[in-house]
Amino acid sequence: MNVIFESSQKLGKLPPYLFVEIDRLKKKLLEAGEDIINLGIGDPDLATPQEIIDELNRTSRDAKNHCYPMDLGVKELRYGITKWFSNRFSVDLDPDCEVLPLIGSKEGIAHFPLAVVNPGDVVLIPEPLYPPYRSGAIFAGAEMIYLPLEEEHGFLPQVKSLDKDILKKTKILYLNFPNNPTTSVVDKEYLEDIVQMAREFNFIILYDAAYSEITFDGFKAPSILEIKGAKDVAIEFHSFSKTYNMTGWRLGWACGNRKLVEYLRQVKSNIDSGVFNPVQFAGIKALEMYPDHITQVREIYLNRRDVFLNALGKCGWEIDYPKSTFYIWAKLPKNVDSTKFCKMLLEECHLIATPGIGFGPSGEGYVRFSLVTTEERLLEAAKRISKIL
Ligand SMILES: *Cc1c(COP(=O)(O)O)cnc(C)c1O
Repeated sequence: MNVIFESSQKLGKLPPYLFVEIDRLKKKLLEAGEDIINLGIGDPDLATPQEIIDELNRTSRDAKNHCYPMDLGVKELRYGITKWFSNRFSVDLDPDCEVLPLIGSKEGIAHFPLAVVNPGDVVLIPEPLYPPYRSGAIFAGAEMIYLPLEEEHGFLPQVKSLDKDILKKTKILYLNFPNNPTTSVVDKEYLEDIVQMAREFNFIILYDAAYSEITFDGFKAPSILEIKGAKDVAIEFHSFSKTYNMTGWRLGWACGNRKLVEYLRQVKSNIDSGVFNPVQFAGIKALEMYPDHITQVREIYLNRRDVFLNALGKCGWEIDYPKSTFYIWAKLPKNVDSTKFCKMLLEECHLIATPGIGFGPSGEGYVRFSLVTTEERLLEAAKRISKIL
């Protein structure tokens, strides 16, 4: 008998995947052996530093590291994180209850709503967005309200202009700075206002700081935990993925309010069994390498940014130079459709970029380029783009 199962209603609520046609085209060109430049993915082309790999190798030989990890994570990693945090942000964390290692920050971000959301609770999600914000909220049964990130407001969510009735029903506000995909950054005054509102209206700030270390031109990204009173209302997510080129290793952490960290630990201890211990030891090594390694990484992305944007500027496409992230959020001429533009980039330039609309309706009119290839290839990409401008 042929039984057809339907997906759950929650799974069915996830938005449809938009880029079927672009993917088909991409596959066809790759199969034909075409020289494709891929600026579509948010995944560094750079290697994980050798010292980190060596530490994984060393610790993986010890049988006592082969067991289930503790759900609190390796103690030495939690202490390493608090030491790094206090050097980097001058914020003191209690390693025993204000820090929780994660299997990459994505799972923590997606799981967190399960720990705090009840039926009828509102979550505020800025868009264009990193998709796990939305999927986590959907799986938790939250009511979602999107906050558009618009150029006229520096791509900052306008939380202050929200109706008081909405704020009263709000359980979580998601914030991501430095921002993927808009590359926007915040100052402490903005965060002070937000923290004050969170305390007044009793909502949680979920602060995604995955790009906190990928910054240029003297800009230093703040942690929301630097703001007075933030520890009462905020949980912040950090990742080894972008800082140390460790996307495949799956390592990140949550930190901040101890209750919120504890609720997340409870959810996770019922779903997963933590990060392979040697990966956690490798993470300690990574933190010890700060800031020498990241200084080199910043310089690489900075040079790529300048080479690519200078070249595009010379052919008449002026794009703002981002202060952070390895993305370029490029505004298209008026009325140019981002999906059509990316299809044209693929067909005529053999170049992959992400249409802004893929991150949400407010992303329409933009494309995202990732600077995840060499300066030489970025120059080649700019040359190809110039032919269709
Ligand atoms: C890459 C990224 C992360 C980090 O994900 P990991 O699961 O730690 O690899 C988190 N947030 C945003 C916005 C990202 O782009």
